[in-house]
Amino acid sequence: MTPPKIVAIDGPAASGKSSTASRVAMALGLAHIDSGSLYRAVTWIAIESQLDLPAAIVAAARARRITLDRVGAELLVHAGGKPIDEVIRGADVTAHVSAVSAMPLVRNWVNDVLRGAVAKSGGAVVDGRDIGTVVFPGARLKVFLTASPATRAKRRLQQREGEVDSEVLASEASLLEERDRRDSSRAVAPLRPSADAVVLDTTTMTLAEQVAQILALARERGLSEG
Ligand code: C5P
Repeated sequence: MTPPKIVAIDGPAASGKSSTASRVAMALGLAHIDSGSLYRAVTWIAIESQLDLPAAIVAAARARRITLDRVGAELLVHAGGKPIDEVIRGADVTAHVSAVSAMPLVRNWVNDVLRGAVAKSGGAVVDGRDIGTVVFPGARLKVFLTASPATRAKRRLQQREGEVDSEVLASEASLLEERDRRDSSRAVAPLRPSADAVVLDTTTMTLAEQVAQILALARERGLSEG
């Protein structure tokens, strides 16, 4: 049996993983999963229900029926069948998500959901922090995307409305760096490139260039045929 076509795209916050992964998935005819959306969904529920114990948070995620449901080529996060992709992007969830995602019970639950969804789709492009190191160590292609904190902050702010002056930029860069520091220093599944990942520094690349580079690697690994 041929192994499922899995592409792992990991990297720090706002490194362009999801936009890149989404386009790569489309070109390869695969589904795309943003694993961060599950950690955000669980964090959103923990905040709403004022829960801080891991077992209670996971029980609430199950009770609220957090699932990944297919919308076009995307597997988007839903609660009880309703899309929640927008509400989980707020500043409150962003401020708490690293603490919730450091909980091993939460990670086990998310990993089960990810593996189930990928098995059902027969492969996928999955982005996150530990996809190549922990969730799919056998992925056919692993890419680690990086970019300077200033570039990542600028890209993140360009997605939002309002003035972007140097003070706003510096404050966004320091929030991103703080989240990366927490994600890289946790005991379980820390953010780091897998030994067999291709590291792409996208500081001076456009989205189209980074997608093209990953598709070239995918072709080399036989991921784009048939
Ligand atoms: O990708 P995004 O920035 O939306 O992810 C939100 C958070 O979810 C990260 O800062 C990290 O704490 C957590 N995460 C993780 N492992 C993943 C994906 C995301 O711990 N595979």
